[in-house]
Amino acid sequence: MYSSEIGEATEAVDVSRAGSVRLDDVTHRYGRGGEVFTAVGPVDLTVRAGEFLVLVGASGCGKSTLLRLIAGFERPTHGSVRVSGTEPRPGEAAGVVFQTPRLFPWRTVGGNIDLALRYAAIERARRPERRAELLARVGLEGTEKRRVWEISGGQQQRVAIARALAAEKPLLLLDEPFAALDALTRERLQEDVRRVTDRTGRTTVFVTHSADEAVFLGSRIVVLSRSPGTVALDLPIGLPRGDVDAEELRGSPEFTELRAQVSHAVKSAAAA
Ligand code: ADP
Ligand code: MG
Repeated sequence: MYSSEIGEATEAVDVSRAGSVRLDDVTHRYGRGGEVFTAVGPVDLTVRAGEFLVLVGASGCGKSTLLRLIAGFERPTHGSVRVSGTEPRPGEAAGVVFQTPRLFPWRTVGGNIDLALRYAAIERARRPERRAELLARVGLEGTEKRRVWEISGGQQQRVAIARALAAEKPLLLLDEPFAALDALTRERLQEDVRRVTDRTGRTTVFVTHSADEAVFLGSRIVVLSRSPGTVALDLPIGLPRGDVDAEELRGSPEFTELRAQVSHAVKSAAAA
C-alpha cells in the first residue's frame, strides 16, 4: 500500500484488490430457434490485475456484448467468464460507465454520487467527504448542488465516472464513454481516466472504436475481428504511465507509430 495525491484528495492504493478477468472459449449468441445470431466469439482472454485493456473493433463486432458478459449482465452461450475467479454478478463485479451517462436527472450531482455510495454500503457519516473526493477527482469540485440537467454532457459523463469509482469495485468497465463528446472534452476526459486509473491501480476494460483513444489509454490493446468478434491482435503498449505530459505523449513518434499500427489492424480486421 502507498498513498498518492490526487488534487486535494489522497487515496490509498492497493493493487492487490484490483480484479482480474478470464474469458475461456467464450461465444455469445442472441435469439432463439432459427433466428440465432452469433455476436461474439470464440474468445480467450485474460486481463491481469491492474491492467488497462482497451478493446477496439468495428461497430457491431461484439465489443459491448463482451463488456456486458464481463459485467455479468449476460451469461455467455458457451464458455466461461470469471472475474477474480468467480462468476460475475450484475452490479457487483464492476463499476460500469456507458456511452450515455444514465444519471438520475431529477437528482443533484451530489445526489447521484450519494446513491452509489449508499449502494456501496459506505456509512452515511463518511459519504460527504467521499463524495467531495470523488467529484474533485473528476474535476467537478463544488458542483454537488447542481442539477444534472444544468450541467454539460461532458460534465454528466464525469459524474458517471465518479459514480462508477464510488462503487469501489476492483474492476472498471467503460463502453465508448466519450463517443458523444466534442474532441476537446474527450481529450480532457481521456487524460482524467488515465490518471485516475493509474493512481487507483484499478483493472480497467475500455471499449472504443478509435485507435487514437486506444493508444492513449491502454497498457494493452486487443483488436477484435469483424462480427462475430474474435481476437485479431493483442498488443502490449509500452508508453509511459503515471504523471505524464499528455500533449508530449500524443505528439511522440512512438504514439504516432502505435496509432498507425492499431488503426491498420482495426481496418484489416474489419475487412477480413
Ligand atoms: P459493438 O459494441 O461492437 O458495436 P455489440 O456487442 O453491441 O457490438 O453487438 C454485436 C452484434 O450483436 C451486433 O450485430 C448487434 O446487432 C447484435 N446484438 C447486440 N445486442 C443484441 C441483442 N440484445 N439482441 C440481438 N442482437 C444483438
Ligand atoms: Mg457497442
